[in-house]
Order: sequence, then structure tokens, then C-alpha cells
Amino acid sequence: MVEKAKACPECHQVFEIPKKPGWWLKSNNEITAKNKKELANVAFSTVNGREPTDDERKAWNKENKDDIEREKVDSPRCSKHPETQLSEDWQGFTILLNISRSEVARALGIDEPGSYALKVRHQ
Ligand SMILES: [Zn+2]
Repeated sequence: MVEKAKACPECHQVFEIPKKPGWWLKSNNEITAKNKKELANVAFSTVNGREPTDDERKAWNKENKDDIEREKVDSPRCSKHPETQLSEDWQGFTILLNISRSEVARALGIDEPGSYALKVRHQ
């Protein structure tokens, strides 16, 4: 599956959005999940060999609340235009390697190899 990417409206460069790691246990980095409920299920069944009931999950959450952490992912910024918000509304993914020979690079004013979008709309 391709992760959603965003493009800089100023220079057309495309940035991949890192996958959200979600929730994890400080005491055991192997245990991760996409949400808090699932984290409780995974951690509980690792110890007990079965999924918890609702009450057991509530108890587990209470017991482990200091051990639960949510990993935050900073949204990427264009290194050249950190003030500009990256746009999800773009088209025409292009990888430009040989800038000096590229018509597209000339047309868009691109001077560095990389991944670019042909059209980017401001959001
Ligand atoms: Zn930019």
C-alpha cells in the first residue's frame, strides 16, 4: 500500500508521510497497536493467551496507564519552504534525476533531483 504523500505548493517537491506508529508500551517496545483499545488487547493476550473481556481491559488500562504511550509523528515540512503547508491536492508524480536534461524541471524551475508533482494546489 502506498502511503499518502504531500507536495510543496512552492517547489512541487513530494514528501512521503511517515506511517503513524500509534500506541506502544514503554516497558515493552515489541507491543504496538494502532489504537489504545487494541494495545490493551495485544498486551493482555500476550500475557494471558486470550483477549480480555471489557472489564479486564478497563482494569488493564487503569493498571498500566503510566506504561502506555502514544507516539507522535511530526508532519513533514519542505526544507526550503518550512512556512508553507504541504498540500494533499496534487497530481502527476514524477521522479527527476537528470535535472539539466529535463524539460519538466526547466518548466517547473526545479534545480535539484527528487520526487515532484506536476500540479500542486494550495490548501
Ligand atoms: Zn518547497
